[in-house]
Amino acid sequence: MPDYNLEYFPEPEEIEPVAYCAACERPLYRDDTVYLLQNRYFCEDCVADARRELEDE
Ligand SMILES: [Zn+2]
Repeated sequence: MPDYNLEYFPEPEEIEPVAYCAACERPLYRDDTVYLLQNRYFCEDCVADARRELEDE
């Protein structure tokens, strides 16, 4: 019987998120595309909705 010696890839180094999306609360990292609207950070997925909302105000 083979001796299974499972090796996992090492965890990627934990990188501190620079901010959290104000809409979906996803952590945003330095390499991500981050949008700053009225001092709130948004991810790429949420910025369109956020812009629309802000324009309605
Ligand atoms: Zn988001």
